[in-house]
Amino acid sequence: MSPQATEQRPSTPVPVPTPTTLNGHTAPVHANGATKIEKRTRTAASELHLPEHNRINPSPSVYQPRYQDLLSNVDNFAIIESTLREGEQFANAFFDTETKLKIARALDEFGVEYIELVSPAASEQSRLDVVAITQLGLKAKILTHIRCHMDDARLAVETGVDGVDVVIGTSSYLRQFSHGKDMTYIIKTATEVIEFIKSKGLEVRFSTEDSFRSDLVDLLQVYKAMDKIGVDRVGIADTVGCANPRQVYELVRTLRGVVSCDIETHFHNDTGCAIANAYAALEAGATHVDTSVLGIGERNGITPLGGFCARMYVANRDYVLSKYKMEKLRDIENLVAEAVQIQVPFNNYITGYCAFTHKAGIHAKAILNNPSTYEILKPEDFGMTRYVSIGHRLTGWNAVKSRVEQLGLALNDEQVKAITNQIKLLADVKPMGIEEVDVLLAHFHREVSRQGVEGQKREGVLQAAAQAAALLEEQRRSSTDLTPQN
Ligand SMILES: [Zn+2]
Repeated sequence: MSPQATEQRPSTPVPVPTPTTLNGHTAPVHANGATKIEKRTRTAASELHLPEHNRINPSPSVYQPRYQDLLSNVDNFAIIESTLREGEQFANAFFDTETKLKIARALDEFGVEYIELVSPAASEQSRLDVVAITQLGLKAKILTHIRCHMDDARLAVETGVDGVDVVIGTSSYLRQFSHGKDMTYIIKTATEVIEFIKSKGLEVRFSTEDSFRSDLVDLLQVYKAMDKIGVDRVGIADTVGCANPRQVYELVRTLRGVVSCDIETHFHNDTGCAIANAYAALEAGATHVDTSVLGIGERNGITPLGGFCARMYVANRDYVLSKYKMEKLRDIENLVAEAVQIQVPFNNYITGYCAFTHKAGIHAKAILNNPSTYEILKPEDFGMTRYVSIGHRLTGWNAVKSRVEQLGLALNDEQVKAITNQIKLLADVKPMGIEEVDVLLAHFHREVSRQGVEGQKREGVLQAAAQAAALLEEQRRSSTDLTPQN
C-alpha cells in the first residue's frame, strides 16, 4: 500500500497551500475571440447508417451516456461568469473597483470564456468600472448586461465591451406588474436594440426574464424573431428558481428546434436545482451557462462555478481540465468570499472542508487501496488533498496502518489492530484530532520497542497499547492542547 494513497491533515479545517504546478494537465485553451460554440449537425443515429455497435458510446466512462446523444453539449459549452453582475445582487456584495479588477483577472486566469458585468446604466461608477475592465486586455470576452432599452444600449456600446446581454421580462407577472408591455411592443423594442448593438459590431444576446413562467407560444415567437435578425445567442432565465431539470430539458430542446443561434441559460438556486438544471440544459442542446463564484446572486443565487465544474468534470474530465485551471478555483472562491464577507461552506463542491474527507473505516480501507472506490473527483486535479480521518470510533485498522506507515513506525498488523482498538476506546469518549492519534502511535511504538521480544507477543502488545493510552490521557490532563505551536 503506497503511503501517498492518503495524505493526512490536521483535524481542524486549515487551508491547504495551493500548489504552483498545474497537476500535469495542460493550460486552458481559450477560444479567444472565437467562443461561439461549434455548431453540430443534429442527425439522428438511425440516419447515420452505422452498425449498431458503433452507435454505442465507445467511452469506457460509466459517467457517460451509454448511447451517443447528438443533441448534448455536455462537452461543448462556454461559461458566462456573472460574479461581477449577478454576484453584485448578492445581499452582502459591494465590489469596489480594485476588487472587481482582481476578480476579473482571477476569472480570466481560471479560463472562463466570458465575464459579465453590471450595466453601465446602473451608476456612474459602474460604467467607469466596465470601461476599466475592458482595458485589462483579458482573454475572456467582456459582456455587460442591460435592460432592453435604447438608452442603456447606447451607453453599453461606448464602454469597449465585446458584447451586450439584453434582457426583458416576458412572464405574465412581469408584463402585468413590472414593465406592463405586450409581446408586439417587446419584439419591436428588442429588434431596435439588437439591431443597434449589432450595427456597432458587437456580440449580442437577447434573453427573456422569468422564462419558465412565460407563455411558451410568446417565448418561441420572440426568440424566433430575434434569431431571424441575427442575434448571437438567445437566453433562457429561470429568474425565480422554479424550474426542474425535466422542464429545462423540454424547453431547451423545443427552443433548439426553433432557433439556429446559440442558447444561453441562467438558473437560480431557490430549490437547489441550479446545477442540475444547467446540466439538463446542455444535454438538451444549450451552449452557454451562467455561473457565479460560490453561486452568489439575487436571493440565494445561481449555478455556482465550482459545483458546475464538478458536474461537468464527471461528464468529461479531459474537456474540463483542458479549458479551466481547476486548481485556481479555491483561490477565486476565497477572494470572493472575503470580498463579500462570507465563509466558504463546509460542504462546498470541491473546496469544502470535508469534500475529500473519508471517515468510515470501510470507506477508508477501500480509498487507501483505490481512491476511485469512493471518489469520482480526483482531489489532485483541483489542487486539493485527500484526508482519511482516523481518530474516531468508526475507524478501521487499514486506515491506522496507513498513518503508521506515513509516520515511518515499524509495527506489524497485530500491533496496528491492537492500537486501533485503543483508538476506538478513547474515541468512544471523545473524538481525537490527528495530532492526538500521532502522539498515541508514537507512545505505542516506543512501548513495544522497549518491551523487545515481549512486545511481539499478544500480552505485550495489549499491555503496550494500554500503556500508550494511559500516557496520552496523562498528557491530555497536563496540557489542553497537544497541537505543536508554530
Ligand atoms: Zn439572475
